[in-house]
Amino acid sequence: MKPIRVGLVGVGKIARDQHIPALRANPAFALEACASRHSKVDGVANFPSLEAMLEGCDLDAVAICTPPQVHYEAAKLALGKGKHVLLEKPPCTSTAQLDRLAVLARDMERTLFQTWHSQYALGVAPAERWLKQRKVSGARVTWKENVRQWHPGQTWIWEAGGFGVLDPGINAISILTKIIPEPFFVQDAHLFVASNHAAPIAADIVFKTDSGAEIFAALDFRHTGVQTWDIDIETDAGPMKLSAGGGNLTIGDTPVPPEPGALASEYEALYARFADLVLQKQSDVDTAPFRLVADIFMVARQSGVEPFEH
Ligand code: NAP
Repeated sequence: MKPIRVGLVGVGKIARDQHIPALRANPAFALEACASRHSKVDGVANFPSLEAMLEGCDLDAVAICTPPQVHYEAAKLALGKGKHVLLEKPPCTSTAQLDRLAVLARDMERTLFQTWHSQYALGVAPAERWLKQRKVSGARVTWKENVRQWHPGQTWIWEAGGFGVLDPGINAISILTKIIPEPFFVQDAHLFVASNHAAPIAADIVFKTDSGAEIFAALDFRHTGVQTWDIDIETDAGPMKLSAGGGNLTIGDTPVPPEPGALASEYEALYARFADLVLQKQSDVDTAPFRLVADIFMVARQSGVEPFEH
């Protein structure tokens, strides 16, 4: 079968660290072009904008790796031109935009893969399977990282629609929606916003499951100690822990191996899924994590904190 010809828009950290290597490692894809205002990628055609790339290159699909504030317009344009779309998280800046993109993909008969990369971390599938037969009595999410280390030069993350600490925080939420075996909702949220930024630098969130279990999430961008992306869950069969952003699963004291055949790289797994979706002429749009983040912003109290220089 002919490879899917891909153009990538937004050559920044995640494009260089993950998308480009994952695309080049998968023979189902041919990375033909990139669109970026300030960057070029060797070995492909380079364009200053998505519009120019769509004009100048014959493509089957577009991978959108720009900040969320410009996701909607890019995805709308690419789908409108009949391209399949792989969309980075957070998908857009409003839930209505995401609903609209799903409709557009359906109307255009093209694949929209609205990705949650953390759902492909190696511990997540076995955690989901184990929790299916268990009752969750409580959980704690600790998502604490140094924004200067992980988001170098990214001013967009602090602007309205940039999500602040909820940009990585949504990864934890995308794992929760995958593994918690019953519906849960935002009960309470407290956002901490530095006086020189619009988006939160830290957040304390309480979710409640339908049966009354509390899931507490502590997110912080100011963390300079051991970088921590952990989910601890209490169940009727004892504790379960996902650490390293979902990469490692421990049940009780016992480490659990990944599922047989699981790909170690989240982004290689994402692109394998994208190839499959294109082949099957299907879309994958899972709005649950994004709706919970929208609810957090709706429910939250806000407190100002001291300015933070990135
Ligand atoms: P980034 O390093 O800032 O790269 C994004 C690139 O998009 C920029 O380099 C910029 O390249 C381009 N761009 C186009 N329009 C822009 C605009 N209005 N403002 C700023 N940049 C614009 O960001 P990133 O970390 O790669 O993140 C991109 C997306 O991937 C985000 O949605 C993020 O949540 C997601 N993501 C990031 C990570 C991570 O660890 N960094 C992990 C998973 C997912 P030009 O200036 O050359 O056009």
